[in-house]
Amino acid sequence: MEQLVDPFARAISYLRVSVTDRCDFRCSYCMSENMTFLPKADLLSLEELDRLCTTFIGMGVQKLRITGGEPLVRKGILTFFEAMSRHLKSGALKELTLTTNGSQLAKFAEPLAALGVRRINVSLDTLDPRKFSEITRWGRLPQVLDGIAAAKSAGLRVKINAVALKGFNEDELFSLTEWCAANDHDLTFIEVMPMGEDMGDGLRLDQYWPLKDLRARLGQRYTLTDLAERTGGPARYVRLEETGQKVGFITPLTHNFCESCNRVRLTCTGELYMCLGQEDMADLRAPLRASPDAEPLEQAIRAAIARKPKGHDFDYSRQAIKGQMSRHMSHTGG
Ligand code: SAM
Ligand code: SF4
Repeated sequence: MEQLVDPFARAISYLRVSVTDRCDFRCSYCMSENMTFLPKADLLSLEELDRLCTTFIGMGVQKLRITGGEPLVRKGILTFFEAMSRHLKSGALKELTLTTNGSQLAKFAEPLAALGVRRINVSLDTLDPRKFSEITRWGRLPQVLDGIAAAKSAGLRVKINAVALKGFNEDELFSLTEWCAANDHDLTFIEVMPMGEDMGDGLRLDQYWPLKDLRARLGQRYTLTDLAERTGGPARYVRLEETGQKVGFITPLTHNFCESCNRVRLTCTGELYMCLGQEDMADLRAPLRASPDAEPLEQAIRAAIARKPKGHDFDYSRQAIKGQMSRHMSHTGG
């Protein structure tokens, strides 16, 4: 089948799939404390998720990232990973991976590795148990550290994702970096994004710690060498010469990555978001449920990709958040 290509000649080879909107944490920048979750009937079944992902893989998607909410709290999730692993075996899929908060990894790391998962992203903003409970509201740090250790012993490569939060983890920049070096984890910092309507704009603006400042501070202690590595996404990497470790910076608010964007996002209800920073989406659940035939679904996917915008409109400038998104990251999966 013909490779999916958008109107700006970008091949769509990367699909991020949110398999649930639920989570066992309530990170303050991601969810409100009393989130209302979707009715179960709205969610795609694991079989429907399989059909959708398989269709995308048939259309040229080579990398699949499973996310959420917390993907590992979705009931039967291993069945879904098992189903996707057949595409790894056939060679159609080059990478099957996930982004997780780590809370369930002690249980899932081994089976995930056995199904062909090689690398995972674990979100961890602080190594201080008290601050961890504060930012995640419901999380416990030791459980996550055990999960990360289990992932490492299962042979999974772990990348730590830390949201850069002013006044929260600024003081842990070096300790987090050193901990990752000591444990051989890659580390990526993420700029906080204006997502969700009920956090109050003031809070997000206060918490905004530009990664160029973070990077400059890192440069006071280490020698940073820019790496050419590009993933088609908003991440840029450096090597810290003193430790040899790789550190990434994800700045979704800058436009420097849109031109090479290779990804789209599918929510757990079958909405396809063509851009993280735009409201436009296509409902794939309707064509999926309307017919068992492949044709209408493929057509709906091609029509959606034909609407993929050139870029997004986030802008933190002048103390006003323009282009703010009303949906939560737990909806589109980040
Ligand atoms: N629950 C999993 C986790 O935490 O890794 C997967 C889903 S979570 C929505 C994916 C990523 O989005 C996490 O690394 C999280 O830190 C990040 N995230 C959530 N809200 C964000 C925001 N407002 N700005 C930047 N990153 C955010
Ligand atoms: Fe849950 Fe991940 Fe959102 Fe935290 S960032 S509330 S762990 S979905």
